[in-house]
Amino acid sequence: MKYVYGPVPSRRLGNSLGIDPLPSKTCNYQCIYCQLGKTNNFTNIRKNYFPKKDTLTEIEKAIKLNENKFDYITFVGSGEPTLYKDLKDLIIKAKELSEKPVCVITNGSLLYEKEVQNALISSDVVLPSLDAGDETSFIKINRPHPSISFDNLIKGFIDFRKIFKGKFWIEVMLMKGINDTKEELLKIKEKLDLIKPDRIDINVPIRPPVEKWVKIPDKNIISLLNAIFGDYTNIFFPEEGTFKIYSSNFENEILSILKRHPMRQKQIIETFSSSGFSKNVVISNLKKLKSENKIKEISYNKQIFWKINI
Ligand code: SF4
Repeated sequence: MKYVYGPVPSRRLGNSLGIDPLPSKTCNYQCIYCQLGKTNNFTNIRKNYFPKKDTLTEIEKAIKLNENKFDYITFVGSGEPTLYKDLKDLIIKAKELSEKPVCVITNGSLLYEKEVQNALISSDVVLPSLDAGDETSFIKINRPHPSISFDNLIKGFIDFRKIFKGKFWIEVMLMKGINDTKEELLKIKEKLDLIKPDRIDINVPIRPPVEKWVKIPDKNIISLLNAIFGDYTNIFFPEEGTFKIYSSNFENEILSILKRHPMRQKQIIETFSSSGFSKNVVISNLKKLKSENKIKEISYNKQIFWKINI
């Protein structure tokens, strides 16, 4: 499938059927921690990056094929999903076809635009990111498109929160020496108090980030997080579980997942063992794809990860 993947295990959403309406790394941010690699299509233009008809057809097929095998339908993937102009139509179609909640994982940058608010209002859960408490940190961490301002970002969060009836869970990505000082955390908390999300998820870069100098904060930060944010310290836990694969074509299946989601080697072995691949065969297939420059191996946080070579 081209626009739908998974179900994949997700830390916050159980098993999630992913809908990815954008070409690989199309985004209006260039986050220093991005797990997908460099933003090669850096744009703030909203348009239908893939034909809507084809995307809708595939959504229908994937939902029928995976009935009862996922907990959420999630719009996420190779970039910022709100850049897809007719996102509203895709969300409405997904809701018509399944009773499972529809979720949008977004950087939240366009929440101030009425058309984007109107698209996301039909979903059940919106998960935006907020990694900075002021414009300087915002530019340093998220490296946004010049047409996006921090003031508009916060205004969009506040305005959308007021009208959205679903769940609004904000994720904060914490990085060592970047936004994990008391001063930075207090600035983020001040903005969160204005926005009033239903939940705050504090995350750390558990998968290899685009910038090698981005690091996971020291664990002793937990007491400071507790003091500032309360009990929202569900961090440091990589996803467990296996991914859904559709065929015995190793190359197609692994490239489809790695395009959106770098994986730990251990998780790849577990995923493919359910389809009869031995550990040795999985590793030799990974090495073959590496020699063809299609994927790359990265050592990060004492684990081996594989990601797409873009
Ligand atoms: S982390 Fe998300 S918002 Fe940031 S650059 Fe990557 S895809 Fe874009």
